[in-house]
Amino acid sequence: MSSASDEDDVEVEREEGAAGVEELDPQTRARRDAALARVRKLGDPVLRASAVEVERFDDALRAEIDQMGELMHDALGIGLAATQVGMLSRVLVYRVHAKDPITALVNPVLEWADEELETAEEGCLSLPGVHVEVERPARVRVRARDGSGALVLIEAEALHARVIQHEIDHLNGVLILDRISREARKEAMRAMRAAREGEETGDRARPARVAHSHSSPA
Ligand code: ZN
Repeated sequence: MSSASDEDDVEVEREEGAAGVEELDPQTRARRDAALARVRKLGDPVLRASAVEVERFDDALRAEIDQMGELMHDALGIGLAATQVGMLSRVLVYRVHAKDPITALVNPVLEWADEELETAEEGCLSLPGVHVEVERPARVRVRARDGSGALVLIEAEALHARVIQHEIDHLNGVLILDRISREARKEAMRAMRAAREGEETGDRARPARVAHSHSSPA
């Protein structure tokens, strides 16, 4: 998932050419573009594949996790799933707030999801230009392993819960496009085409967009 996270106004997605990105210094911008180029985009079959359980918690796995964390950081994302970088292992990384350490979850299992649903805007590093309102359980409990195989139990709410669910979806070949209405999906595809065309012509300036803020549950 992509975002510029700010304590008060958490934007789930920061899109190519959005005001915030325009303000990035050239180095950060270049690093971000290079990172985004390595993320698989819609149309790549790997995004529709189901990732498989990790069985070996070795140095190779930890190296993968480190690389995913770096890529997510450089892409200014708040979450990244292995399938988005072409790896079919059940691994995801996320960092909801810039000051937090990056968390890696291996073989995550959604143990419990709240009946209460929340709707908020989401973006995806694999769907440039797309922002859609997605309804999801407001709170979840997830069981997983860390990079060394130790059991991790996470209870999450608000954006934290949302990011984890978004990334677990990726590990099952599910995209945010699958969680919205047909109408919204058409709109999203148009936005993605427009973003792609802007990229091809090198014209990344886009109209200022309204900042969407999350209202954290009280
Ligand atoms: Zn995504």
